[in-house]
Amino acid sequence: MNEYFAYLRVSTVKQGDGVSLEAQRDAIEAYAAKHDLYVSQWFEEKVTAAKTGRPLFTQMIRGLQRKEAVGVIVHKIDRSTRNLAEWALIGELIDQGADVRFAHEALDLRSRGGRLTADIQAVIAADYVRNLREECLKGIEGRLKQGLFPFAAPIGYLDQGARKPKAPDPERAPFVRLAFELYASQQYSIRGLLAELNHRGLRNKQGKPITTGCLETLLKNPFYCGRIFLRRSGRSYPGIHEPLISEGLFQTVQGMKSNRQQKRQTRHNHTYRRILKCAACNRSLVGEWQKDRVYMRCQTKGCVTKTIREDRIEAFVKDALLGLSLNDRQFERIRCMALRRLETTDGTDMLKALELRLSNLSMREDRLTDALIDQLIDKETYRSRKDAIDIERNEIRGAMRDARSVDDRRASVLRFLELAKSLALHYEMANPAQRRQIIQNAFSNCIVRSQNLSLTPQKWLREPAWTVSVLCGGPVRDRIRTLQEIQPLLEIVDTPLFHRGGNPQ
Ligand SMILES: [Zn+2]
Repeated sequence: MNEYFAYLRVSTVKQGDGVSLEAQRDAIEAYAAKHDLYVSQWFEEKVTAAKTGRPLFTQMIRGLQRKEAVGVIVHKIDRSTRNLAEWALIGELIDQGADVRFAHEALDLRSRGGRLTADIQAVIAADYVRNLREECLKGIEGRLKQGLFPFAAPIGYLDQGARKPKAPDPERAPFVRLAFELYASQQYSIRGLLAELNHRGLRNKQGKPITTGCLETLLKNPFYCGRIFLRRSGRSYPGIHEPLISEGLFQTVQGMKSNRQQKRQTRHNHTYRRILKCAACNRSLVGEWQKDRVYMRCQTKGCVTKTIREDRIEAFVKDALLGLSLNDRQFERIRCMALRRLETTDGTDMLKALELRLSNLSMREDRLTDALIDQLIDKETYRSRKDAIDIERNEIRGAMRDARSVDDRRASVLRFLELAKSLALHYEMANPAQRRQIIQNAFSNCIVRSQNLSLTPQKWLREPAWTVSVLCGGPVRDRIRTLQEIQPLLEIVDTPLFHRGGNPQ
């Protein structure tokens, strides 16, 4: 009896075209029985059609070339070949006398007409696959535009099915937050942070400790603050999943990561570098060591400002912060005011204002896209402006989430008051990086005039009551700016290590 191969193929990815393995097997067995053919070997392939690498297909072709069987029975043409290169291989075999049969189609491949019909069907099958791939890409793009992430959830999130946003993983999400917070505290190197997280019990989906590469990827991934970024296309999309960290914390970590690379070139990392300006020539002062002390020096030759000692600057800053800190009476008064206000406002006005900003942002985005299409700007300019828009949108979304919850607003008001009450103390306890953060967010100007330092406080610090009304949800125009200024400081208050008090650096 003549021996035949049988070849089956199913896609592992669901594509809606699935004829299951068993159904194909049944069809081939029925065909073989009907035509009195003997199947000597089954080849059951489980891969996606669009890829050429099909190991069993190659094996089957080789077997036929070696005449291990007189022919092959396949379920349908589109099961045998999904690209024309493979179809050409089968064509060659037919020319060499192999008997290729299709269980589903009554085609006589030895006749010219039968070959032509089969060729046409192969072309159609190849086109079908191309179409499928395109549809699939369109599906991905569609999901992304809806704010969904159509791939496996990153560590810290769980998949909820294709149509639902990723949900925070109750087990790992706290570790992700901790990773950002600890890194932002500047007390950990990547390696130290990795050891700390693995020691505290963070495991990947396979139950193993995470790797350095995994941690690096995690700290770079804006998904955790609510943005979806695809590295391959370089495009980013606003996500609708619940962020694990704030945009502010994410940006802090990104800033530190790029600083850390620059740091190799800088010999000293002075607390006040690039913060102080010379009153005479408006240039930034640079730090230098002299006899175990740090001096900040004006770089301009012959400038009246020579140097000022770091501990002197420190004293000025502490003094200013102490003067700006709330006393007990002010603290109590503002706290009462805030709590009363929170009871009466429900955040609706603020939400409206934020929604307006959001729609303005969309209009800006449309104009930007138009400008790109009209070639008024190049792709690079477009990207960077688009990124800025995405970041702003994310911040507004964060503010909207805050505005929705009275409890959250109460918590941030209290954190703010706590910060404003003991600003000088917080500064005292902070590490150098946090001190920089406090100075940068608290003062708009730090000007050195011979041996004196004059500091201009930001509005939120001059008028704490005003900031409290921002936090309570009053419809204030520069709300976002104020929040941007105080957010990193509130995070300093929240740093898990902060309350331990130590300052290892
Ligand atoms: Zn100068």
